[in-house]
Amino acid sequence: MITEIKSAKAGKIGKISVNVGDNIKKGSKLLDIEAHKGNEAMVSKNEGKIVSIQVEEGDVAKVGDILLTMECEIANAKPEKAQPKASNKATFDYFGSVMKPQKIELQSDITIIGGGPGGYVAAIKAAKLGAKVVLVEKEDLGGTCLNRGCIPTKALVRSAEMYSNMQRSEEFGLFADNISVDMGKVIERKNGVVNNLVAGIKYLMDKNKITVVEGSAKILSNEKVYVKDNRKETTINSKNIIIATGSTSFKLPIEGIESKNVLTSTEILDLKELPQKIVIIGGGVIGMEFAFMYNSFGVDVSVVEFMDNILPTLDSDVCEEISKIAKAKGIKLYTGSKVDKIIHAKDGECIVSFEKDSTTSNLVGNKVLVSVGRKPYYDNLGIEELGIALNENKRGIKVNNKMQTNIENIYAIGDVTNVLQLAHVASHQGIIAVENILGEDKEMDYSSVPSAIFTNPEIATVGICEKMISEKGLEVEVGKFPYAANGKALTLGEPEGFIKIIKDKESGKIIGSTIIGAHATDLIHELTLAIKNGLTAEQIAETIHAHPTTAEVIHEAALSVEGGALHFAE
Ligand code: FAD
Repeated sequence: MITEIKSAKAGKIGKISVNVGDNIKKGSKLLDIEAHKGNEAMVSKNEGKIVSIQVEEGDVAKVGDILLTMECEIANAKPEKAQPKASNKATFDYFGSVMKPQKIELQSDITIIGGGPGGYVAAIKAAKLGAKVVLVEKEDLGGTCLNRGCIPTKALVRSAEMYSNMQRSEEFGLFADNISVDMGKVIERKNGVVNNLVAGIKYLMDKNKITVVEGSAKILSNEKVYVKDNRKETTINSKNIIIATGSTSFKLPIEGIESKNVLTSTEILDLKELPQKIVIIGGGVIGMEFAFMYNSFGVDVSVVEFMDNILPTLDSDVCEEISKIAKAKGIKLYTGSKVDKIIHAKDGECIVSFEKDSTTSNLVGNKVLVSVGRKPYYDNLGIEELGIALNENKRGIKVNNKMQTNIENIYAIGDVTNVLQLAHVASHQGIIAVENILGEDKEMDYSSVPSAIFTNPEIATVGICEKMISEKGLEVEVGKFPYAANGKALTLGEPEGFIKIIKDKESGKIIGSTIIGAHATDLIHELTLAIKNGLTAEQIAETIHAHPTTAEVIHEAALSVEGGALHFAE
């Protein structure tokens, strides 16, 4: 932990008794300050190592100015007495001196740039394995996932889900009046969940003795990272570097896209008033999660998608099912459609103009959400100067399966690599990178990565999907089972959807599965474990599943691919 030693008195700096790198005991003299009442010795309240000296003999310090920084064991570190906060700007004191920017030098085994689920998990893993870790973050710990992605969206999805359940409560014999949405409160709850989790990450950093440096990092060489933040300049000499700088929203170069009513997925998270109508450009995962969420809140939702299907990476039967459900809920889908421009009407409404089969149509929205993908982020990181190679399509930092870039001791993980933009993939890549740095020989295995989509109903996939079969030249058998034949789904009032399990014909091993239906995002992990461990459909069929649970759809799908489901006949 870095502790700042601040001046408790205004005065001229006298003799400095320590040097950078000195190990200091509690009570050791640090320097003299010549104040109005005479010369006073300043002693250390902590035990630790001097990291930087911010003043020179003869400088004049004000109360609260940072004089030195020390690296202390957390258990030993005593907080400094509350002092007037030093200004962020370089300020002149009454003696006319200017304080220098604070310069800190750190040493580490691994420096990780970016504190998202890639970076912070890598940091914890490395610290647990005994490495000296520095983590640099320019915004908030937790990255996109905790602050602008997975967590805030799911908190909003949960509010929407509860509201829509309350709307249909009479179906369950429950009656309530005046059910309404207070979007301000919904956002407040979402922020509470986010803050709670971010605080948890900070706690974990402290507990694992990870030095967190705030600011924007630039890689100066394969062993030096420079971080600048307001008045602090930190140079980290590091044996290894992990780049975990994530991704950022991509905006299409569409006429009229720059407007306060045209929002990215980050901006829309704090919208405290529900729009009457929203047009979502992009029917991918993020776009469709927002589409179902706003629809549940009672907003008029239209989605314009360039491809022929929404969620186009899924199998066509899954696309058909979710499109059918979306339309039944009142979400308007315009697929195979290209947005040309957004026109801004005087009353603040946006007219989204798009073309389908050479015909131009218009949609009106109070807000427009643009969710057309995210691009790897490495602005001003210094990767060009260092010659770090990019992927062939120039999107993302190129890595091998050990997560190593073309520079031996520089690794990259997470969205910045553009392999799979998922939080859990970023975290796992982080673990693999750290293990390799610390002497193991580990490779990423992407054959059993689950993926979760929080539409209503949820969708989850793992491994192979049917559309990959011919492309990969596989011989397979597919077992399917509908949620409508699952007792628990009927008790929940959620009979929509189905599961399919794909098994390799020769070995009988499960190689893929897709679930659309209640609890899909949790259920997928049984299949993930099966694929990762080479289990057969027969082994799942022979495993007793509790009744009544939605997990029984997995059992039945396994039975189906092994000769026939018990609770379903076509
Ligand atoms: P990020 O989480 O993007 O973290 C990178 C960090 O690096 C940031 O905090 C950034 O400030 C910091 N940084 C960048 N440059 C520098 C620099 N030079 N110096 C210092 N710090 C720097 N994924 C899922 O798996 N499930 C979901 O349900 C899901 N929902 C999502 C919903 C939305 C709306 C969005 C936008 C994304 C969602 N994702 C989801 C994707 C997920 O958020 C990302 O895959 C994940 O955050 C990537 O982690 P990362 O560590 O690579 O990068």
